[in-house]
Amino acid sequence: MKVLVAVKRVVDYNVKIRVKTDGTDVETTGVKMSMNPFDEIAVEEAVRLKESGAAEEIVAVSLGVSQAQETIRTALAMGADRGIHVETDAVLEPLAVAKLLKALVEKENPDLVVMGKQAIDDDSNQTGQMLAALLGWPQGTFASKLELVDGKANVTREIDGGLETVGLNVPCVVSTDLRLNEPRYASLPNIMKAKKKPIDKLTTDELGVDVAPRLEVLGVEEPAGREAGVIVADVAELVNKLKNEAKVI
Ligand code: AMP
Repeated sequence: MKVLVAVKRVVDYNVKIRVKTDGTDVETTGVKMSMNPFDEIAVEEAVRLKESGAAEEIVAVSLGVSQAQETIRTALAMGADRGIHVETDAVLEPLAVAKLLKALVEKENPDLVVMGKQAIDDDSNQTGQMLAALLGWPQGTFASKLELVDGKANVTREIDGGLETVGLNVPCVVSTDLRLNEPRYASLPNIMKAKKKPIDKLTTDELGVDVAPRLEVLGVEEPAGREAGVIVADVAELVNKLKNEAKVI
């Protein structure tokens, strides 16, 4: 089985996000970037499939600026075999990403695509679903468990009432939820080995995909700051304020 894993370079989850002064986007200059956390879980799951003997090859794919190669290297250090970098400076919306991934799937013919349920920068939660629709493949979204049994992918999903398990024919698309696994840290020897693993480079034109944006961002704003608190003298004053100022009781 061949597994394709999509890994996105995003602002590190520990960074306090700042909005650009012109209100067009969040600031990324001089900001620590890392692999999207849900994609780390996707890579980990693919590596576990390989370690269990269920998968033979893992291809890590990232689309974006030249530094996205670092994200692919991280996936290679975790255990992916090779990488594909579609280099572009364009802002990629989920539909463009899904179309590019579709073109790569048609080139690579994987049996399974594993990706994050959501990128923590745009919080779209759309790309996996769009990819499955474009390919006409079954999808198992928000996987908290993945098992390959008799040529089928059984995906367990946390839903409101409990756990749902869906059986998907392969090839299929699986998107990862937080509780699927705990991603490993790459060891130093594996980081060194990853430097020698191949990364192919492609352009959006070579894949024949028009990545022009379909959406217009009207503005990006910081959330409203928290107002300072006040210390009240007694319960009567508190009740009075809750009733007449906050109007919550
Ligand atoms: P989204 O729909 O934007 O929330 O992203 C969902 C998932 O799609 C991510 O967790 C990634 O696995 C994949 N993805 C989105 N954008 C990219 C990208 N530029 N390169 C590689 N994978 C991506």
